[in-house]
Amino acid sequence: MVAYYGEGVTVLYDDLLEDYPEGLAQSLAARARWRQSAASRDPDLEFLVADAVKWRPGSTVTVAFRGGSPQLHRSIVDVAAAISQACSLTLDFGLDEAGGFRSWSTEDTEYSADIRIGFDKSGYWSLVGTASVDYAVGRPLDDVGGRPNQQSMNFGGFEEELPSTWRRTVLHEFLHALAFNHEHQNMRGPCQDEFRWEDDQWYVPTTDSDGRFVPDPHGRRPGIYTYLGGPPNNWDRAKIDFNLRSEGVEDGAAGVFDPESVMLYRFPPFFYHTDPSPCAPVGEGLELSEGDKRGLRLLYPEGAESSERCGSLAAAALQALPPESLDGGEKLERLGVDQAAAARSVLNRLLG
Ligand SMILES: [Zn+2]
Repeated sequence: MVAYYGEGVTVLYDDLLEDYPEGLAQSLAARARWRQSAASRDPDLEFLVADAVKWRPGSTVTVAFRGGSPQLHRSIVDVAAAISQACSLTLDFGLDEAGGFRSWSTEDTEYSADIRIGFDKSGYWSLVGTASVDYAVGRPLDDVGGRPNQQSMNFGGFEEELPSTWRRTVLHEFLHALAFNHEHQNMRGPCQDEFRWEDDQWYVPTTDSDGRFVPDPHGRRPGIYTYLGGPPNNWDRAKIDFNLRSEGVEDGAAGVFDPESVMLYRFPPFFYHTDPSPCAPVGEGLELSEGDKRGLRLLYPEGAESSERCGSLAAAALQALPPESLDGGEKLERLGVDQAAAARSVLNRLLG
């Protein structure tokens, strides 16, 4: 976090942005490519791409911790409670009689929980929706991914010290885990154009003591590519485009743009062409916004009807998947076979 132009008020902006570990990003890209090609072959398989990242409405999604103190677990559970209150999903942390919560281990061969939290990786991130239980996500020998013994959500550094915006971070990652995408990537049309991608003309690269790009002595500002290209993110252009431009979004839910959403990054004002920008965050985003709650109800409404619809779509997608063993005739690439098997297991789970 870092404060910019904060005269008299403390405004906390997100400084270190989320970033998946390398192997995870690669396997997610492969999975997305397979899903797109599967969906284009059979309309029923579109469900795989569009909806199967959602959990079944009305269901219970289990959560477990690895590492962290009981007190830290309690803090996270208390903040996440607002999510269960807002929709038909129940987040179940496995509270036991001694007041402890469910744990998972890297030795697990069966799922201890759908969402598996850890604290020892760098930064904050979460798998999106049912990717958390998709064993095609993450490399088999890595410790992050969708398999039972792999971590699906990370709060790096929370064991040492809770950052001042930790409540937002917890809500943000849990909404990812419930299939939400970033609000800034919901910026269609004028909002994408509000980002200042390039440096001010004649900007002289200038850094602070931490190596962050800052305005030069003449007040000319770095653009987003320069700023995020430096510490602490050190992102190249491709990564910046993937994370900030709308085209990078493959699945998940999007509603009307909501400047109060916890899913909106708190970017500093110089990220935008105008100040105040219509696309800039409003408030501190430390609680679920009304828009976040609306989104949750839309994705996970009360009532058996939507749950049935989800079930019948999952059943149709399951039917449309290629058969488990193909001998001779039509040959699938190895990747396709693995992806189909993983998709089958996620869909079976949705069928309950
Ligand atoms: Zn995020």
